[in-house]
Amino acid sequence: MIAPFAYTALPMRVVFGPGSLARLPEEVAALGLGRVLVLCSPEQADTGRTVADALGERAAGVLPEARMHVPVEVASRAQELARGAGADGCVAVGGGSAIGLGKAVALAHGLPVVAVPTTYAGSEMTPIWGLTEAGAKRTGRDPRVLPRSVVYDPELTLTLPPQLSVTSGVNAVAHAVEGLYAPDASPIVSLMAEEGVRALAAALPAVVADGADPAARGEAQYGAWLCGAVLGATTMGLHHKLCHTLGGTLDLPHAPTHTVVLPHALAYNAPAAPRAVAALSRALGGASDPARALWELAGRLGAPRSLAELGMAEDDVARVADLAVADPYANPRPVTRDGVAALLHAAWAGEPPA
Ligand code: NAD
Repeated sequence: MIAPFAYTALPMRVVFGPGSLARLPEEVAALGLGRVLVLCSPEQADTGRTVADALGERAAGVLPEARMHVPVEVASRAQELARGAGADGCVAVGGGSAIGLGKAVALAHGLPVVAVPTTYAGSEMTPIWGLTEAGAKRTGRDPRVLPRSVVYDPELTLTLPPQLSVTSGVNAVAHAVEGLYAPDASPIVSLMAEEGVRALAAALPAVVADGADPAARGEAQYGAWLCGAVLGATTMGLHHKLCHTLGGTLDLPHAPTHTVVLPHALAYNAPAAPRAVAALSRALGGASDPARALWELAGRLGAPRSLAELGMAEDDVARVADLAVADPYANPRPVTRDGVAALLHAAWAGEPPA
């Protein structure tokens, strides 16, 4: 039986395919934009300049200063530069950090964002923004920060290192997993989630075997698009809460933290989410225990499987468990302090999910 649901489609345009970066100028022009500021991370300054060159006279400059979690100082510099250059929009090229910077400018000035994603994080599909000030990250939802147009060109992901490809891919899978059991799940979102997990689980081993394999890169980015759309449409639960807390308090790296925690969070929630487990089982080739299958996939692909190897001390388990249960949030299984502490300890030690 179809359970009652509500679903709001987010207004945006997606252009997908190898070589689609060449279509960026027409996407920018179609939005009526004549002077866009290009935003990227320092490590991708060359990519930023390539994008600016492709835009020609529509480019107002390149700011290669995006950093993880959008520090307010960087956001202010981007906002001032955009105003000073008379920019009427931004093109954010890169991972969640660059796209997050574009969202910060949109939030302050209402300038439209065109996103050109080069990881699998999925920020380009969501109206969620984040800003970090004095070590504290604030997040919120605002329709103004949702990119108007997203250009997915798998050729831009060929340089994504294997390890980052895997952890970023599992970060995407995490959006789908939590979307499947979200309080605001719906049939269309569940279809996207199942297909997104299937595509990523199939593509990531091929990406690791050959990072320049265009078919594998295309399928991985297709999966990341679907999983990002799930993130944008639903409310995340225990897994995202834990990763947010671990990142915010211990400064653990975003995508590897998601990779380590996901099998454990899924194992915790599985008894209360049978339909999600059934969908994930189908997506993972009939796996009887999707949490265990994800843990084994991470191991096979050489990804980190313990929070200890990401730099977390065993003593931090209790502190993070306290924080993770401090405010109530939707989750299919009741979140208890002892349950979270046991989950975190297993993830810290690198044990299989139980
Ligand atoms: P990132 O954007 O910080 O990128 C990681 C590193 O990889 C950077 O040095 C970047 O320059 C490099 N890189 C990216 N693409 C590359 C490529 N194709 N080739 C070579 N190097 C490349 O990391 P991320 O995991 O994409 O994003 C994480 C951030 O995004 C976090 O701050 C997270 O909170 C945020 N995020 C936000 C949302 C949202 O909806 N608001 C969703 C997901 C993630």
